[in-house]
Amino acid sequence: MKLRKSAAVATLAVLALTATACGGESGNAGDKPAGTTGGKDQPKLPTYKVATDVKVDSATLEKAQKAGKLVVGAKNDQPYLGFEDTDGKRSGFDIEIAKMVAADLGFKADQVEFKTVDSNVRETTISKGEVDLYVGTYTINDERKKQVGFAGPYFLAGADLLVRKDDKAITGPDSLKGKTVCSIKGSTPLQEIKKPKYGAKTIELSKYSECVQQLLNNEVDAVTTDDAILKGYAAQRPEKLQVVGKPFTKEPYGVGMGKDDKALRDAVSDAIEAHQKNGDYKKAYDATLGLSGSSYTEPPALERY
Ligand code: GLU
Repeated sequence: MKLRKSAAVATLAVLALTATACGGESGNAGDKPAGTTGGKDQPKLPTYKVATDVKVDSATLEKAQKAGKLVVGAKNDQPYLGFEDTDGKRSGFDIEIAKMVAADLGFKADQVEFKTVDSNVRETTISKGEVDLYVGTYTINDERKKQVGFAGPYFLAGADLLVRKDDKAITGPDSLKGKTVCSIKGSTPLQEIKKPKYGAKTIELSKYSECVQQLLNNEVDAVTTDDAILKGYAAQRPEKLQVVGKPFTKEPYGVGMGKDDKALRDAVSDAIEAHQKNGDYKKAYDATLGLSGSSYTEPPALERY
């Protein structure tokens, strides 16, 4: 009797929580993407219908549902991808991916709490449970899969080079002998460019924006990371910077999460697939990354494991 009563109370508590976590629409159709000057007619961001009654056999998701918020790790200095303006407002394609996935998991946009997590601390932050999901130009690879889980891929980028506009000498990764290249600790393009075959000197920092500043200050000759990220920096300073345009790696972006959470991996991949099918994905792309000059390409096939 006593047991049954407490079970009923628990059920009511769950229902109450579910009710507050569900219903309505999220999104911010009127917002201007970060890094743009605004003023011109820009494509509108989609709004995402928030799912109700979401049940996924995932301890991480259950904890987030109880807390009424989903904590998502992201970048804050990548215009058009993951950017935070001076008012603390986040924007970009990765931010939209996070919001569409969150909506399918039952969280409204204002129930998504973004936390800035840079490349070199992603695996430890996810493993410690300090974020529920991570959406930040995060390449899926086998090495990382030993520590974290991935849903996706939702986008395919490739490492490229950002140089000063007046630089005619750097035409691709094979022209880097003796040049100084800046990249980020814990990133795959840094690992690649350190290979002896390129003959480049490397500078390793924590944030891409710091590398871009060094390039503008003539302290380094190039910045390497994914083309999608570099195009955002070039679009912000088209008179000073350019992307070489010869991608030399494949960087499939995934949503990071706890290593063995297969149920959450599947739920996130389902969400990505659903929003690709209903057109939200393309709309979100056009209103974010598309504005940096990247032309739209069909997303890569999801790889479930
Ligand atoms: N996609 C690459 C990586 O995951 C580079 C971008 C980044 O550092 O986030 O390492």
